[in-house]
Amino acid sequence: RAKSAGGNRFELADPEADARVITRHGLTTALPAALERGEFFIEYQPLVHLGDGSVRGAEALVRWLHPQHGVLGPDRFIPLAEHTGLIVPLGRWVLEQSVRQARLWRERYGEGGAAGPLRINVNLSPCQLTHPGLVQDTVDILERAGVAPDALCLEVTESALIGADDDLLKPLRRLAEMGVDIALDDFGTGYSNLANLRRLPVSVLKLDRSFTQSMQQFPADPVDLKIVEGIVALAHSLDLAVTVEGVETGAQAEQLRILGCDTAQGWYYARPGPPERLHELALVDATG
Ligand code: C2E
Ligand code: MG
Ligand code: MG
Ligand code: MG
Repeated sequence: RAKSAGGNRFELADPEADARVITRHGLTTALPAALERGEFFIEYQPLVHLGDGSVRGAEALVRWLHPQHGVLGPDRFIPLAEHTGLIVPLGRWVLEQSVRQARLWRERYGEGGAAGPLRINVNLSPCQLTHPGLVQDTVDILERAGVAPDALCLEVTESALIGADDDLLKPLRRLAEMGVDIALDDFGTGYSNLANLRRLPVSVLKLDRSFTQSMQQFPADPVDLKIVEGIVALAHSLDLAVTVEGVETGAQAEQLRILGCDTAQGWYYARPGPPERLHELALVDATG
């Protein structure tokens, strides 16, 4: 109905859009209490070495167990948390939990032989980059957990660093100097300025899922093959490792391995899951 009787006139042009707005608003206002009540949890998705198939680490992916709506993925609430600034304490919480988890993995599997201990990848929002506490918080969290900086990789999206000036890069540089790896996430989706790569303190390129998807058909699109081949060659010549996202089939994994990618992540290996799952995967791997 377009109008209500009486003094309060309102229009419901699109009830569904309205409901979405209410949910968005509701979710936004519920975020701080959710963090206090411990409604967030982290799933871990293994990172697998394409050469030998061993599990090298995992990416931490945050979820919200909402009392009414069930489990919400990060795409539903990270933008809201960024908008309100809650991303800073939430991101710090994710980092702390993930680093402690890395410590537990190390206790469980030891130093992991030649490949080293299982490493942990944590996503950073652009707002966290500009927050002055980033470097000190990270140092404190690593120290409290007794985890070496080189066991941590922080993932920053390519778009967050487009046109980044030196002030924005300074904290990342300091972290990189300490031994923390910086990965350029979703690489290839933005306006990749390849020459710009040299300026960024990154040591890993995470090729976006769209490239992996184009390896779906066999034979894959020859132009896409050339592009990935070129990116890998450039990355390796700059001493960057290449990780591929969204690997869903063995054929994709094989194609990407042939193209020279180093590490892979995707449903073909494992969906994101509880930390115990990584124990199982790494153990299977260790015992053959
Ligand atoms: P991302 O960092 O690019 O993470 C990869 C996303 O791809 C994850 O979605 C993962 O579940 C999904 N994925 C993994 N393998 C496959 C596959 O084989 N096929 C397909 N179709 N998808 C796959 P998720 O968990 O929904 O996370 C979405 C995004 O939310 C992440 O993208 C990241 O940008 C952001 N995010 C997640 N956790 C955090 C966090 O703690 N802090 C911040 N700032 N952002 C986060
Ligand atoms: Mg990521
Ligand atoms: Mg990614
Ligand atoms: Mg992505």
